[in-house]
Amino acid sequence: MPSRESGEPDEILLVGGGHSHVIVLRELGLRPLAGARVTLVSNAARSPYSGMLPGYVAGHYDFAQVHIDLPRLAAFAGAHFVTDEVAGIDRAARLALCRSGRRLPWDLLSINVGATPRIELGATGAAHVVPVKPISGFNERWLALLQRARRLATAGDAAARTLTIAVVGGGAAGVELLLAMQCRLRQEFARLRADPQRLRWHLLTRDPDILPTHSRRVRQHFRRLLAERGVRLHLGAAVDAAGAGWLQWQGPGGAGRLAADEAIWVTRARGATWLRDSGLAVDGDGFLRVGDTLQVAGEAHIFAAGDCASMIHHPREKAGVFAVRMGRPLAENLRRAVAGRALVGYRPQRRWLALISTGDRRAVASRGAFSAAGRWVWHWKDWIDRRFMRRFADLPERRK
Ligand SMILES: Cc1cc2nc3c(=O)[nH]c(=O)nc-3n(C[C@H](O)[C@H](O)[C@H](O)COP(=O)(O)OP(=O)(O)OC[C@H]3O[C@@H](n4cnc5c(N)ncnc54)[C@H](O)[C@@H]3O)c2cc1C
Repeated sequence: MPSRESGEPDEILLVGGGHSHVIVLRELGLRPLAGARVTLVSNAARSPYSGMLPGYVAGHYDFAQVHIDLPRLAAFAGAHFVTDEVAGIDRAARLALCRSGRRLPWDLLSINVGATPRIELGATGAAHVVPVKPISGFNERWLALLQRARRLATAGDAAARTLTIAVVGGGAAGVELLLAMQCRLRQEFARLRADPQRLRWHLLTRDPDILPTHSRRVRQHFRRLLAERGVRLHLGAAVDAAGAGWLQWQGPGGAGRLAADEAIWVTRARGATWLRDSGLAVDGDGFLRVGDTLQVAGEAHIFAAGDCASMIHHPREKAGVFAVRMGRPLAENLRRAVAGRALVGYRPQRRWLALISTGDRRAVASRGAFSAAGRWVWHWKDWIDRRFMRRFADLPERRK
């Protein structure tokens, strides 16, 4: 399919080291691709595995356990690794234009850059909230929050002071992250002999309920749990302004406002603007429109997978499980494209199992009408997640 001078290998450029590309790289390491030179460009050398992020925040895993070492994985795949941020694509010249000024050539391009936060608060408001996306940037903000909580717990006049944390977004990620942060900070307060009651928690969502894509039973379970853990729930609250130490929202009962020392933003995301600005086909949320072969609509040489891609015929929720599942068909199609063979179609599953942890080494399993909760669910999730990460830590001998 690509059009290099004969004899020259094709340049495959993988943009972003997300959940799909790590699978592609592993596949290429296990079964090297002849006739192609592969480059991975990522703005971070460590790729976070989202399934274990709440467990990292809760203190169950350390940083290395929840991150994939991209340069090492690229070496295993025989790929070149470049640390840079792609800011645009020149489709005519077949170049990826990087923030640093670097220009990376490609014959086949694959994009797996995740999603960017949608913070509709204006520039001044947005500066006062902490977006969880990109998750590669969240760690720094989380460590800063942890430090702030520790300082407060040990300050001289501490007994009189509270720390109020608001999470904006009532989907699985928002609920899971709040419960993880709460467990961790309570432990820190207990360790420092400070009263955990001085930590105040709010969860705000514009929807009429939390976890809108889950069953009534799962929603009830989490509403009860949040109430037990002293989290104030604000349903139907569309946050529309923020400043230093406050958030404001519009809701069915009119406008509301609360004082919040920290506001974590975990709402629906959108596609990076450079995708649209590069002239690629995007949907209303700025995500790349892809067909069943994972090629971007109208582009024979450009593929996309993960959160940044929106499947035209099979729209699905944004979730890491889909990004992971796209990895193998994507690797296969890159292989077929190099060989000039017909591409294969991919159809994502309609229902998927969500394992939502509750911060205390318990979790809830949710799939359609089925749900189950308990310590064993967390152990099951932990086993699945660790097994996934082992695939990148214990890399087999590379085949020539
Ligand atoms: C707290 C939390 C918990 C979650 N838990 C789960 C869960 O349990 N199960 C589940 O299925 N989903 C979960 N999700 C959703 C999940 O995070 C996403 O669906 C998943 O990360 C999407 O994977 P991706 O590969 O598309 O993108 P990402 O994981 O975001 O990876 C994109 C990569 O590309 C890199 N990148 C971005 N832009 C550029 C650029 N311009 N140039 C170069 N590199 C770039 C980034 O550094 C990043 O490493 C959770 C999300 C959150 C926030």
